[in-house]
Amino acid sequence: MNTRGADPAATGVGGAVDVLVVGGGQAALAAGYYLQRARRRDAPGLTFALLDAQTGPGGAWRHGWDTLQLFSPAGFSSLPGWPMPSWTGPGNPSAEHVRAYLAAYEDRYQLPVRRPVRVSRVTRSDAGFRVDTDHGGWRCRVLVNATGAWGRPFWPTYPGRDGFRGRQLHTVSYRSPEPYAGQRVAVVGGGNSAAQVLAEVSRVTDTVWVTQREPRFLPDDVDGRALFAAATARVQARRDGREDAGAGGPGSPGALGDIVVVPAVRDARARGVLQARPMFDRLTPTGLAWDDGTEEPVDTVIWCTGFRPALRHLAALHLRDGSGRVPTGGRAGTQAVGEPRLFLVGYGDWTGAASATLIGVGRTARDTAAAVVDRLGSSAHLPAPRGPARRRPRSDDRGLREDEGLSSRRPPEVTQMS
Ligand SMILES: Cc1cc2nc3c(=O)[nH]c(=O)nc-3n(C[C@H](O)[C@H](O)[C@H](O)COP(=O)(O)OP(=O)(O)OC[C@H]3O[C@@H](n4cnc5c(N)ncnc54)[C@H](O)[C@@H]3O)c2cc1C
Repeated sequence: MNTRGADPAATGVGGAVDVLVVGGGQAALAAGYYLQRARRRDAPGLTFALLDAQTGPGGAWRHGWDTLQLFSPAGFSSLPGWPMPSWTGPGNPSAEHVRAYLAAYEDRYQLPVRRPVRVSRVTRSDAGFRVDTDHGGWRCRVLVNATGAWGRPFWPTYPGRDGFRGRQLHTVSYRSPEPYAGQRVAVVGGGNSAAQVLAEVSRVTDTVWVTQREPRFLPDDVDGRALFAAATARVQARRDGREDAGAGGPGSPGALGDIVVVPAVRDARARGVLQARPMFDRLTPTGLAWDDGTEEPVDTVIWCTGFRPALRHLAALHLRDGSGRVPTGGRAGTQAVGEPRLFLVGYGDWTGAASATLIGVGRTARDTAAAVVDRLGSSAHLPAPRGPARRRPRSDDRGLREDEGLSSRRPPEVTQMS
């Protein structure tokens, strides 16, 4: 097992810590950053660890297709504290650039990440939680869940799906267009993943694009930065007690559109392949069929139909509502309503506006860490937070202190894109 940047004082002894963060992607790292800062400044007794099922750093950015790029420049894709290094290649940073940034981020802040450790089950105990993993049991008093969604691809159910004789795959398994060269391929979904996969697969295949509703494109001159600005305005409106623009309201991300017209999508439009058809009603053994009698033979169906939050290990807590989510609230908006010792970070608007993006997750991670420290501070074990008066910084605070200055100059905060 690898413990990248582990600090023995922070990992606890015998698998018992104050705070366990489940996950090791961007959301977990952002939470780890603020827990580390709290430990060094306001709560020196705090012990915590991050448990990540991956074999290396990067979370979901370890996966994705070969040409996957961010929607926005590096300057709009930073975690708290340390801006993403600039990208010198064409377009926006690649997934590999993000992965390298997250790896360096862990090291920079000496975040105690244990991997690969998969959490299989979380149950309540007197003092907090018992956490079963494939590498033994842990105990913690507070649990921060930051498991993302990449591990739970969503495949909608359509009649005939099992009888289709061609190939079916989800975005999570798509790497490059070459294996489908010369085929007729259906791309299902109206989001950014679908548009980008369609754009490149259509260069070597004959494609059919199927969406539940008419695709909505951002204006060509607008990239992820405009969505970030809209999300920031939305958060500010909520803070000010003004009416929330909501999805589709003026100034909301939804009002702008869904699909960022990255160069590959622009090129696909020029080639005339961005013609979406309504959702089919069933699959036949050889293709797609609509109730009006239309049929479309295809060799492969690529389901770019999104993800669900990876929360199965929390099932024994019985906190999920009918939508499969755990209702959250509290001062950070991330505290489970039915279990105040549990926090959920990084799942999008549900757990904080824009919290499923690199630059957006910092806000809820910060508020979550503060709420966690408050909660722990009420017990005898951990000294209560000291408030504005801070102790003299130690030499190993260097990175955290310097980076705080940088973070105050960050660009606006952001919205979720999937
Ligand atoms: C195609 C695509 C493009 C995107 N483009 C952008 C973009 O341009 N800009 C942007 O800001 N955002 C973008 N996003 C959104 C966002 O950055 C990602 O969704 C991000 O990976 C979410 O981070 P996370 O830490 O919440 O989850 P993840 O990165 O998925 O990390 C979760 C981690 O938890 C681990 N885990 C899960 N379950 C367990 C368990 N039971 N036990 C232990 N570990 C577990 C996983 O292995 C993983 O390492 C994009 C997303 C997608 C899908």
